[in-house]
Amino acid sequence: MGKKRRLLVAREEIAWFPVIDAESCNGCEACADFCRPGVFAPAAPEQDAVVARRSKMQVANPYDCIVLCTRCEPVCPSGAITLPDPRQFERYVEILDH
Ligand code: SF4
Ligand code: SF4
Repeated sequence: MGKKRRLLVAREEIAWFPVIDAESCNGCEACADFCRPGVFAPAAPEQDAVVARRSKMQVANPYDCIVLCTRCEPVCPSGAITLPDPRQFERYVEILDH
C-alpha cells in the first residue's frame, strides 16, 4: 500500500471495520499483535469465570480500521474475523497517484 489514499467522507460515516465471531475466537491475540492502528483489544475477563481463560478479542476501535484493508482476516487462525466486501466501499476512497 504505497499509494496515498484520501477518504471522501468522514471516517465515522464509513462502516468499514472487522467483526469477530465470538464463538470462534480463541483469544490468541494474533490480530491485536498484527494490526498497527490498534483496532483490537482483549475483552475484560468475566468476573465470575471459574477457570482462567484467555479473553475473547473485541473490536475496540472500529473507526481506526483502515478503509479497504483486509490484512488481519488471514492472520486469524480460527477464521473468526470478517471484513465487508471491498467493492461496496471503494467509492469512499480516492487513490492519489503521484
Ligand atoms: S483490516 Fe487492517 S486496519 Fe483493519 S483491523 Fe484488520 S489489520 Fe487492522
Ligand atoms: S486472531 Fe482470531 S482467534 Fe486470535 S484473538 Fe484475534 S479474532 Fe480471536
